[in-house]
Amino acid sequence: MSGPLQEGGALVLFSGGQDSTTCLAWALERFDRVETVGFDYGQRHRVELEHRKSLMVGLSRLNGAWARRLKDDHTLSLSALGKVSETALTRNVAIDMEEDGLPNTFVPGRNIIFLTFAAALAYRRGLKHIVGGMCETDYSGYPDCRDDTIKALQVAINLGMERRFVLDTPLMWIDKAATWRLAESLGGPALVDLIIEDTHTCYLGERGARHAWGHGCGTCPACILRAEGYARYRAEAVG
Ligand code: ZN
Repeated sequence: MSGPLQEGGALVLFSGGQDSTTCLAWALERFDRVETVGFDYGQRHRVELEHRKSLMVGLSRLNGAWARRLKDDHTLSLSALGKVSETALTRNVAIDMEEDGLPNTFVPGRNIIFLTFAAALAYRRGLKHIVGGMCETDYSGYPDCRDDTIKALQVAINLGMERRFVLDTPLMWIDKAATWRLAESLGGPALVDLIIEDTHTCYLGERGARHAWGHGCGTCPACILRAEGYARYRAEAVG
């Protein structure tokens, strides 16, 4: 599915989860130069940050062209975000729904802050594209995952930084089953296996048992979403 390589480079928001790993493969297939950024904001599922390096090594082994395009990795500490947003992801409370209909895993403004910091970094690194795994299809009601939020932010960032950044969200309109299919189309069964084995999505930060879809507690919303998506992906592949 490779087209002509796009110049200008890309910065991928790379947490080490399923979505951002798929986005990184997507970017490595498209852009001449790809850098990565990870954010540490005191999240409970920090274990995913530890998987970033092994995933990058794994992606480089899968494809020699990807290995040549994959450049610097950056880690930014945003501990202030964890301090101001007392949610189930940064505090030790049960994951539940709040009265306003949002799950209490919502970290207010998280993607706005991530993308703004990413743009500041991309500015310094001379990168044109900023790639994130935001998705409106099964987004748990997080308002900062909406396409309109990202488009508005692109306008604001470009005005505020006097640049022509492009915010790419390749997962915006696809569900979790289609995300697995996208990974397969980019890197074949080997990429699907790498994602199962080495990515981390579980909100509780548990490696847990090894399920068909990967490691995790198996009962938190992120694990359930991932498990159901994988089941549909496998069922469609067979049927
Ligand atoms: Zn879980």
